[in-house]
Amino acid sequence: MDECPRCGATLESLSLGEVTTVSCERCGYADVPVDHQREREDGETWREALQRFYG
Ligand SMILES: [Zn+2]
Repeated sequence: MDECPRCGATLESLSLGEVTTVSCERCGYADVPVDHQREREDGETWREALQRFYG
């Protein structure tokens, strides 16, 4: 779990379509973790490729 850079609270993960962002309920901080987003994109791309391949 990531911690909020502002207040140190646990960040909530929110999936908005293909984009995953994190937000803090305590202070309202919100951001998109680039590293995590890349991992998710690679995973989605790989899954989509498999789905296309197997129909
Ligand atoms: Zn916070």
